Amino acid sequence: MIVMKFGGTSVGDAAAIRRTAEIVRGRLPRGPVVVVSALAGTTNALLAAAEQGAAGNLVAAIATVEQLRERHLTAVAELIGVGPDAEDLAATESVLLDELAHLVEALSVLGHRTPRAMDAVASLGEQLAAPIVVAALRRAGIDAVLVDARRVLVTNDEFGRAEPQPEQIAAACREHLLPLVGAGKVPVLGGYMGATPQGVTTTLGRGGSDYSASLFGAALEAEAIEIWTDVDGMLTADPRVVTGAKLIEHIRFDEAAELASFGAKVLHPNTIAPAVTRGIPVFIFNSLRPDAKGTRITADAPRHSVRAIAGKGNTVIVKVRSARMLGTPGALKQIFEVFARHRTSVDVVTTSEVSVSLTVDDDQFLDAVIADLRAFGDVSVERGRGIIAVVGSGLAEHTEAMAKAIAAVGDTRLYMLSLDSTGINLTMVMDADAVKPVMQRLHDAFFSDPAA
Ligand code: ASP
Ligand code: MG
Repeated sequence: MIVMKFGGTSVGDAAAIRRTAEIVRGRLPRGPVVVVSALAGTTNALLAAAEQGAAGNLVAAIATVEQLRERHLTAVAELIGVGPDAEDLAATESVLLDELAHLVEALSVLGHRTPRAMDAVASLGEQLAAPIVVAALRRAGIDAVLVDARRVLVTNDEFGRAEPQPEQIAAACREHLLPLVGAGKVPVLGGYMGATPQGVTTTLGRGGSDYSASLFGAALEAEAIEIWTDVDGMLTADPRVVTGAKLIEHIRFDEAAELASFGAKVLHPNTIAPAVTRGIPVFIFNSLRPDAKGTRITADAPRHSVRAIAGKGNTVIVKVRSARMLGTPGALKQIFEVFARHRTSVDVVTTSEVSVSLTVDDDQFLDAVIADLRAFGDVSVERGRGIIAVVGSGLAEHTEAMAKAIAAVGDTRLYMLSLDSTGINLTMVMDADAVKPVMQRLHDAFFSDPAA
């Protein structure tokens, strides 16, 4: 058995849904369970409608609802044509869209949004998408069956970011999904949404369909989880920044997680952790190029010296100098508490006996942070910096790789340098405008030489 998850662009319109049906057909011998996102852009539109409603702008909210109606009914007509099946499906969609219209109306009466109501609205994208995909699969001769994800994806009641309950999910998956797969049917579920044990609809947080797929895969002890998206997989660098970026065919989970924090937005590895930690490989595939290789993510891929180069250019360095304080126990804790208090996350940290340097990406609350840090010593701020991360699980062991990385930096001025203790991420802070050329030199050094 395998779990196949199709993101918004893989179900964005009738043509995409047809391609998806063909991809599923190719996997039938492996017993697929299909998880789908909302049609691309739908979740944003749903949340906008809810906000318009709660802000008292009911006309705009209903216009948004009608655009969604139009879009989903067009997909139905293009996929199923006319006739009783098409009418049934259009009726199913219309009931959901009427429910949406009632919800935004209710929000406009209330004049504010509750997290619980927002989840009821946000989950409608997947509720709308799943029956359309079922119908398209059936059209393609595949014995697909709709399963309401709320029957299997049990969560707590933290609306907006509900916590899955793995044991109850496993039991529900065994009860509701296994018999279908055993009978040669293809269960289709909406991602991102779940329900409390009492049946109240919840969501897992934005982008949560990958998480759903991973949870189902872990619960069913699937052979593999496939994340179908609109890019070829993870690359050795961002192709908009570096020329010659290459597909990474196999990557370790911890490496992928390091890259994600630098904005590799293909998928957030934490969402697939439940599967990877159980030894289930996760693949990223491009539904526009289904025969391409894709990327395989496992916990135990072979260690390479360097797997990828990532960078970003909007970094601020905050430096605290205090000869008196820094040697004393608990000093770092107090400094970190300042950042936590002002909801600012710290990226790179380096220390010496008399100073601590920290980087942040988000300077929204920086003035407040600085004001509080002055209690500890002299504080200085340097803007216009950027960060490059050289990621590879064998980096620390392969001393020649480290030498090569340092050589590629050349005479570029570095402000901070850090290697984490597992030796997987060499992070360098430099001027923002040096990031692009240095990334290119590093990439050339590691990825254009076949002996690398
Ligand atoms: N449709 C949801 C979102 O846009 C979940 C997902 O696509 O993974 O966040
Ligand atoms: Mg997504």
